[in-house]
Amino acid sequence: AEAELIRIQRFESLAMLAGGLSHDLRNLLQPLLLAGDSLQDYQDDPRLARLGVLVRDCGRRGLEMVQSMLSFARGARRAEQVKVQALVDALSLLLQGSVPRTVTLDIEVSDPQLTFEGNHTELQQCLLNLCLNAIQAMPAGGVLRVTTGSVKLDQGFFLEHEDALPGEYVRLTVTDTGVGMTEEVRKRLFEPFFTTKEGGTGLGLLSCRRIVYSHGGVMRLDSIINEGCCFDLYIPLARPITEISDLAEVDTNLHGN
Ligand code: ADP
Repeated sequence: AEAELIRIQRFESLAMLAGGLSHDLRNLLQPLLLAGDSLQDYQDDPRLARLGVLVRDCGRRGLEMVQSMLSFARGARRAEQVKVQALVDALSLLLQGSVPRTVTLDIEVSDPQLTFEGNHTELQQCLLNLCLNAIQAMPAGGVLRVTTGSVKLDQGFFLEHEDALPGEYVRLTVTDTGVGMTEEVRKRLFEPFFTTKEGGTGLGLLSCRRIVYSHGGVMRLDSIINEGCCFDLYIPLARPITEISDLAEVDTNLHGN
């Protein structure tokens, strides 16, 4: 499971890098393309006109490469029907070998038929991240509990999360009886590269949050020091998955060319 986690985080970083690079490259290439276009119409000097064609063609090829980087960044982001039961089954398979003897794994699926629109792979990665964090928070052993269900949430629940709309949600909960978090850790939890672990990446929770947000969902955290943590993921039952906003924006602009 650790190897799987590292693979996921590599992919995440690469996708973020690809997304960011595409954005910057596009901004460089577009004026170049325009310059090439104007130059190739230059009647007075055929040499300059030929250079214009060259500049334009290179610019176009560059934009095509940007497009394939974007496709890569979005490669794993297909929306599909996700079965809660399948999600949990995959999770317990991945966790095999990572749960120490001192930790009791307790998984409870309240509605085995429950399905929703989302991305199975991403959510599985998200749950795996949370479970491995939970295990690491219980060096002296304890209970790792994963529960699922569906809930109807109203406006009041989301006062602090303006993006989330009231409606039917799938709830995925990961609870541990570990060390809990100090106020300081809690504040910095989602900072990239923030970690209290030797050899930690500090990218796990950030990646979880991105996945949940891209599903139109929210993530809530309860923690009591020396008692443990509880992460609740709320994913809307029927809402199409959205792209990372930056990438979507680049994508739209590209189609204009
Ligand atoms: P990493 O696991 O590589 O440190 P994360 O972003 O997943 O990166 O976590 C950031 C930090 O949040 C951790 O280093 C740890 O201090 C804290 N943390 C995360 N999950 C838990 C948990 N279940 N219990 C206590 N602390 C946690």
